[in-house]
Amino acid sequence: MNKKIIILGAGLTGLSIAYLLKKNGIRTQILEARNRIGGRIETIKGNQDTPIEMGATWLGEKHKTLVNFLNELGIEKFKQYNHGIAFFETMSFAPPQEFLIPESTEPSFRIKGGSSQLIEKLVSEVVLENITLNQVIIKIEKQDDHVHLINRKNESISADLVISTLPPKLFAKTISCTPSLPQGVLNIFNTTQTWMENSIKFGVEYSTPFWKKNGQAGSVFSQSSIIPEMYDHTNFEENKFALKGFLNGSASQYSKQEREEKVIATLVKFFGKEAENHIGYFDNNWENERFTFSPSDTFLFGHQNNGHHVYQNGYWENQLWFAGTETSMNYGGYMEGAIQSAQNTVHRILQLSQVKSSQGLTPKSGLDL
Ligand SMILES: Cc1cc2nc3c(=O)[nH]c(=O)nc-3n(C[C@H](O)[C@H](O)[C@H](O)COP(=O)(O)OP(=O)(O)OC[C@H]3O[C@@H](n4cnc5c(N)ncnc54)[C@H](O)[C@@H]3O)c2cc1C
Repeated sequence: MNKKIIILGAGLTGLSIAYLLKKNGIRTQILEARNRIGGRIETIKGNQDTPIEMGATWLGEKHKTLVNFLNELGIEKFKQYNHGIAFFETMSFAPPQEFLIPESTEPSFRIKGGSSQLIEKLVSEVVLENITLNQVIIKIEKQDDHVHLINRKNESISADLVISTLPPKLFAKTISCTPSLPQGVLNIFNTTQTWMENSIKFGVEYSTPFWKKNGQAGSVFSQSSIIPEMYDHTNFEENKFALKGFLNGSASQYSKQEREEKVIATLVKFFGKEAENHIGYFDNNWENERFTFSPSDTFLFGHQNNGHHVYQNGYWENQLWFAGTETSMNYGGYMEGAIQSAQNTVHRILQLSQVKSSQGLTPKSGLDL
């Protein structure tokens, strides 16, 4: 008998779990709340098709699992451009300081074509028909041997095994479980920080990389402007150009047009008049993304409770599991953490099922290997 495995969330973790299980001959179904795939990975195209990251962008050689995963999938990475003069600003009334960026011993890399290449490749491996969009799950119930997932339209989908890849805090705040998870476990979920959930990313597209011509890196570090951090965002082929970075949290009080005006005025201050000739302005305030952001009851430190031991076990007689980058014991919050959590979850589920079949028991988790 074929048992049904449902994965909640078509972000990097959910897609990687589906991919890894498929490699073991196990089919899954992914339910995704948004009308797009990728979760916190979102590469948009500018007006001249420049790939601009609104979500995850950088990785390092130290992210070994991710680097191996990219190699396995045949996806190339390239070094973040960071040569020449950068700007450092401490006070709004003093001119920004210029400094020459030293060669980094630990360079950052970006994914050729944009981070969404990783998502698209996984989708093609997993097969699109196994992913259903616009499925906002609000309730999960265990009845006898089955787990029922109830969506916003009150439709019920039944499964033998469910793996949630939602950020744990979002899960605790938006999905009710019957029977309830232990209160101590829920307390950890509620105090697990969701990485980057309230950051604002922006990109400005240009037809030429005028900063490079002027010997500038395109990097800005400012403690007093609307742009605390920014870098060159030229594509791998070096024929599409943008500057990309983060906006100060206070920018959320402005309209998009006001943000654009303030960003361009700030860029003119650093780079001169040429910065006015932009061909596109894009930004995303992740605090408005209700399938990422959830309010916190108390102040949470970055990465707080990431990889906590409550995420390393199955619940409901191993029919309910929690994965996702925040559950990873290493590099929680990052793409590396997402891949590690996918690998670990798949490993645990396969191991459990093998133990049961070697004991001559029908695997209760529902896997039929
Ligand atoms: C602005 C920003 C910048 C970042 N920069 C970097 C970086 O440079 N390098 C790096 O390594 N990482 C970075 N990250 C983090 C990186 O994006 C994440 O580590 C990774 O994408 C997490 O993947 P995930 O699948 O675990 O979670 P998610 O991508 O959050 O996936 C969870 C999925 O669950 C879905 N979902 C939510 N609620 C429901 C529901 N009720 N029912 C069904 N589905 C639901 C969501 O829509 C989502 O698709 C950044 C993130 C952001 C937001």
